[in-house]
Amino acid sequence: MKILVVNAGSSSLKYQLFDMDNGDVLAKGLCERIGIDGAITHKCPGKPDHKVDADFPNHKAAIELVLSLLTDKELGVIRSVDEIGAVGHRFAHGGEKLRQSSVLGDEEIKYLESIVELNPLHGPPAISGFKACKEVMPSIKHVGVFDTSYYATIEDYAYIYPIPYELYEEYKIRRYGFHGTSHRYVAAKAAEMLGKKDAKIITCHLGNGSSITATMNGKSVDTSMGFTPQDGVPMGTRSGALDPTVPSFIMKKLGIGAEEVDKILNSKSGLLGVSGVSSDCRDVCAAADKGEYRSQLALKILVHHIKKIIGSYVAEMNGLDALVFTAGIGENDRGLRANVCREMSYLGIEMDEEVNATCPRGEDVDVSAKGAKVKTFVIPTNEEYMIALDTMNLVK
Ligand code: AMP
Repeated sequence: MKILVVNAGSSSLKYQLFDMDNGDVLAKGLCERIGIDGAITHKCPGKPDHKVDADFPNHKAAIELVLSLLTDKELGVIRSVDEIGAVGHRFAHGGEKLRQSSVLGDEEIKYLESIVELNPLHGPPAISGFKACKEVMPSIKHVGVFDTSYYATIEDYAYIYPIPYELYEEYKIRRYGFHGTSHRYVAAKAAEMLGKKDAKIITCHLGNGSSITATMNGKSVDTSMGFTPQDGVPMGTRSGALDPTVPSFIMKKLGIGAEEVDKILNSKSGLLGVSGVSSDCRDVCAAADKGEYRSQLALKILVHHIKKIIGSYVAEMNGLDALVFTAGIGENDRGLRANVCREMSYLGIEMDEEVNATCPRGEDVDVSAKGAKVKTFVIPTNEEYMIALDTMNLVK
């Protein structure tokens, strides 16, 4: 079965076409600057990349071009759109009701529309991407895969904030967690590598956005992102967890409103805010290597918070079998991985620093020291494959 995976942003649309008989990616690409002017980069293994400007007034025009490229006589990989068995859509937020991947009908979309306030950045474009695909491919089943649904198994005492309970009842203010599809994929891979289904696993998804998740017996028990993706470890431009009074103090001191303080904590903090150099970890590492104090400090803060969360999750689970690094920083920044794992032997985490420093990129690698009580793995994430797999399983 062939599954098309779509990830729609406000001005972009990413896609991948999978052949689920063998898991191969037949084609993938990115439509950019939707609603502005437009450009598409379309890639098929064994063929030259196709990059052209295009006029995308909306998501519908973008998906129409994607389908015409997928079925193109020269560039195409399928003869007709009918070969697509189903479409899987990535949604960041499924709220409290969409607790697992689901075939999307009117009821589901109505519910997603009712919770856009919880997810104002990603919700509306993902819904409009879905509607465009449904209009262009009306006879194909469309499935929603939600980043939050991996956290449906978290206990109430871990997702309810200690604030007046009525605020949860009235406004649904609680921990939701994000990046769930990535954590689900790498945690399952780690359990496979351990050969143990009932494993205790901590997965560190460290990229431009970062989160850490604890998984026990294949089910998540806690995660560092909360009501929004703003909670947890410091990120490219997000602060991560703070004393809750910091935002209101900034508002008073700078004489600014809620939106502006959100902007500071969302877009001007994290690696960028502390280093003053960049939100990109590579730039911050380069500046730190040159001896810049604030870049060195930004990286030390990041490592400090990652270690703290790992320690707290070991305590929550009363043990640990595997620690996993994934996403842009987790998969590529060998120095950061080593700094996180240093002086964690009390918890059983011991890394073979030579293997870590020389391990190939893009592969699942065991970087733990020989005889270490806890395995440390580097596992490239693959959210798109997970979305395709859920989609296939639901429509089959
Ligand atoms: P992602 O959001 O998963 O695409 O990850 C983006 C982050 O990964 C950025 O901060 C990049 O700087 C970081 N990254 C990618 N490659 C490397 C690398 N070789 N070393 C350090 N950080 C990297």
